[in-house]
Amino acid sequence: MSREGEGARGSATRRGLIAAAAAGGVGVAGAFTLAAPAILPETPRFDRNRSYWSQALPAPLPPLTGDLDADVVVIGGGFFGLSAAYFLRRRLPGARVVLLEAVVCGNGASGRNGGMVLTSTDDRYLRPSDDPATDLRLYHLTADNLSVLTNLAGTVGVDCELERRGALQVFDDPAEAPARKAYVDKARDQGFPFQFWDGDRTTASVGAKGYAGAVYDPGGGQVHPGKLAAVWKAAALAVGVQIHETTPVLHVDEGAIHTLRLAGGGRVRTPRLVLATNAYGSKLGYLRSAVAPIFDNVCITAPMDGALFAAAGWRDLIPFNDSRTEVFYAGRTRDNRIHFGGGPVDYRFNNGLAEPGAMARRYAGVHREFARRFPALAGVPFERCWNGLVDMSLDSRPALGAIGRHRNVYYGVGFSGHGVNLTSVFGRVIADIVAGDRAAWTWLPFLDRLPPYVPNEPFRWLGVEAALAALRSAGD
Ligand SMILES: Cc1cc2nc3c(=O)[nH]c(=O)nc-3n(C[C@H](O)[C@H](O)[C@H](O)COP(=O)(O)OP(=O)(O)OC[C@H]3O[C@@H](n4cnc5c(N)ncnc54)[C@H](O)[C@@H]3O)c2cc1C
Repeated sequence: MSREGEGARGSATRRGLIAAAAAGGVGVAGAFTLAAPAILPETPRFDRNRSYWSQALPAPLPPLTGDLDADVVVIGGGFFGLSAAYFLRRRLPGARVVLLEAVVCGNGASGRNGGMVLTSTDDRYLRPSDDPATDLRLYHLTADNLSVLTNLAGTVGVDCELERRGALQVFDDPAEAPARKAYVDKARDQGFPFQFWDGDRTTASVGAKGYAGAVYDPGGGQVHPGKLAAVWKAAALAVGVQIHETTPVLHVDEGAIHTLRLAGGGRVRTPRLVLATNAYGSKLGYLRSAVAPIFDNVCITAPMDGALFAAAGWRDLIPFNDSRTEVFYAGRTRDNRIHFGGGPVDYRFNNGLAEPGAMARRYAGVHREFARRFPALAGVPFERCWNGLVDMSLDSRPALGAIGRHRNVYYGVGFSGHGVNLTSVFGRVIADIVAGDRAAWTWLPFLDRLPPYVPNEPFRWLGVEAALAALRSAGD
């Protein structure tokens, strides 16, 4: 879900949009924004995953009803939490590692996304930073993680439909081509394996009409997100992680030993807590000013028969995203479905959740874009549409580290719509950090930081809505 290469519209991005919103909010918010969490408290609430992928999620394990003591507790059963728990048990084989998930593992963004397995981080994806050596290191770290996923899927015997044939970032405007090509040439000189594809080559690969070209990253790929969640869950269980689902954590009494209060009345005591709550963290009182929870949408067709699917012209199992401000992205499944996602996004006041059905007009917009890119399929309806929360940071960069008076609340956040692959890299990193071994990761520019401050309500809502309105009236 990343966008724009060097030379593309630099400021007109979703991250620019939310950054502008925040800046506006910070400017006027003053003391009120500091008081907002007390005036407008949030409570743990969770929306059900209605995605096509969710049908592949394993049934929930029994909730935790009583009390227990653990060496490490991970809150959240998405890719980040599951991988963190898995790597923690491998790092600390004798430790009691407990994962608590409010609904079912994969209920959040991990089970609802667009299935693009991307290299790097959102802020650096197919665009250079001022530190090319770190960009390259990050590229290899994340590209190599696809081998970790392949091996793990093999070990637990779950085929998560991981395809490692690369990923494309397409663009519309022919005028962008020279800058894209120049970026690829420079990146290749620096050691990146990217390729520039012209419009014909792009259409020959993915069938979609109207793109002027693409940047191809052979290090990316695609996956069935629900089955990937099943892989991580099976892997965590196999190494001895104790998982309890339908177990919302309602409150954390922080200390040298934390006490977690569960919805079922139980208490869990632990000296080390990993927050893997993504866009839901604010509901537990954490990281409220680190990210804005933004709703994004995905839709999928039914499987198409040979002739109809052939008309789409999508030959390769390669997904793509475009470079627009409110990015669209798409993939095809092995059984000839097409899933299409993105477009205009939404924010709900005070980090609220969307009611089922509220996104119907967004889904119609996704279908319009799908029909525009695949005119031969314009009459093909979507079988299912759903939405999910993205933990958008203002600078589109992730963050991980430790907070709290005792520095024993560990977090990873701000994946910004780019976490299918990155979350399990960060799961490995946070496991090392919790185990007290930072040496291998001090080069990571995301360690020990918190994303730029996102103001509280009402400025958060006003800022995001104003920025979205300005953006859309500008015609992007
Ligand atoms: C529509 C959409 C499309 C996307 N497309 C892509 C894509 O194509 N490629 C890509 O790289 N990224 C994509 N992303 C982003 C990617 O899915 C996320 O970055 C990633 O899945 C985040 O994983 P996570 O484990 O951090 O969070 P989640 O998967 O959201 O997991 C957090 C979990 O914590 C649980 N939880 C929260 N609070 C509590 C509590 N108090 N008690 C107990 N449990 C709790 C939640 O129930 C949830 O299961 C997309 C995201 C969305 C929403």
